[in-house]
Amino acid sequence: MTTIVVGGGPAGLAAAIELRRLGAGRVVVLEREAEPGGVPRHCDHLGFGLLDLHRLLGGPRYAARYAALAERAGVEIRSRTSVTDWAAPMEVGTTSPRGVETISADAIVLATGCRERPRSARLVPGTRPAGVFTTGALQQIVHLQRERVGRRAVVVGAEHVSFSAVLTLAQAGAEAVAMVTEYPAHQTYAPLAWFAAGRRGVPILTGARVAAIRGRDRVDGVDLADVATGARLAIACDTVVFTGDWIPDHELARRGALAMDGASRAPRVDQAGRTSARGVFACGNLVHAAETADVAALGGRGVARGVATFLHTGSWPAPPVHVTCVPPVRWVAPGAIDPGEPLDVFRLRVDEPCANVDLVVAQGTREIWRRRYSALVPNRSIRAEVGGSPALRAEEALIFRIEARS
Ligand SMILES: Cc1cc2nc3c(=O)[nH]c(=O)nc-3n(C[C@H](O)[C@H](O)[C@H](O)COP(=O)(O)OP(=O)(O)OC[C@H]3O[C@@H](n4cnc5c(N)ncnc54)[C@H](O)[C@@H]3O)c2cc1C
Repeated sequence: MTTIVVGGGPAGLAAAIELRRLGAGRVVVLEREAEPGGVPRHCDHLGFGLLDLHRLLGGPRYAARYAALAERAGVEIRSRTSVTDWAAPMEVGTTSPRGVETISADAIVLATGCRERPRSARLVPGTRPAGVFTTGALQQIVHLQRERVGRRAVVVGAEHVSFSAVLTLAQAGAEAVAMVTEYPAHQTYAPLAWFAAGRRGVPILTGARVAAIRGRDRVDGVDLADVATGARLAIACDTVVFTGDWIPDHELARRGALAMDGASRAPRVDQAGRTSARGVFACGNLVHAAETADVAALGGRGVARGVATFLHTGSWPAPPVHVTCVPPVRWVAPGAIDPGEPLDVFRLRVDEPCANVDLVVAQGTREIWRRRYSALVPNRSIRAEVGGSPALRAEEALIFRIEARS
């Protein structure tokens, strides 16, 4: 029996290691980068491993540890191997230095992660000069390629990863001259905001967006616009970093015609990570863009159990109960529920700050779960430990909504 895992980040490697531990046979991880480990390879700061490895590690050490564990578990890792398409329902096409190949399996796990929307996807007007990055690109250049990035940067966004970008800029000898967010406040924890930006005197400009990027060969400034009044502010800089605003790396899932969640743009999975295609699973930031690495890894571990059960029994339950949401809830994962299995932990995001509210889960007029939150913050992970095994009606959606408390 062979399982292919597409993507050698924390989710894919954790899934592969667990599959080997469960005696699931041959496990092959296909990774397009030169080395396995995923995004943490270039996140050169502390903050990884608490929930899954029970220690606090820097990103590169965390990535190396997973790669070593996978090797020890007998996982076959094929690096520099991009999965480009499906050759058949259980066969993928790859491109690598060996050329174009196909590889078939009894089960396939998609763990391709997510990326930040770049400037082009955010439709930011202006000229097209050099010096515009995402955090991921910035960190690759600074930590993997050891190149310079500029001297004065504007960071677009103010969530956890935006502050990680400020730290990376400082490591690269560049100054963050401003952070810009459309929200009324930053969306990270106060200590991280202070550690990365506050103590360096980086101003956080709230209620503002980037209206234009200026410069011929290299960026020489950005124009900001107040979201309420439209008033403009010009800032001189040579670097712009677009942070957060995640999109799952879902091209392969879409090429495979998997059912997708319209809100999160992720393949729709149930509690066991089963997609709409028999034998194909998905996990990690591909299904919740973006959580921390330990959450992604634990998700991979959980999916491995679903894969092992499928390999063993061949069963593929249907039809699932769909999970939907009402604004200001933006998306919920997982997006489907097998009524035959216990409910799970859900993860969700909101579009606007909410204070003193109830998060409610209902099926029709029947309330399944309710919990009070003093604050829900956009761009921040919200965990709803719904749990239990309520008798759900098949074909009727489970709905997540927010109710204001009086
Ligand atoms: C700037 C930044 C800072 C962060 N800081 C922290 C932190 O402090 N603590 C923390 O816990 N988390 C942090 N995170 C989040 C953490 O990195 C992610 O949660 C984690 O990497 C997600 O794991 P994953 O396996 O789902 O995806 P990824 O790590 O993105 O791995 C996906 C892998 O799939 C590969 N791939 C994609 N498509 C294909 C394909 N078609 N063929 C072959 N391979 C493919 C990619 O090359 C990649 O290696 C940070 C993220 C960023 C961007």
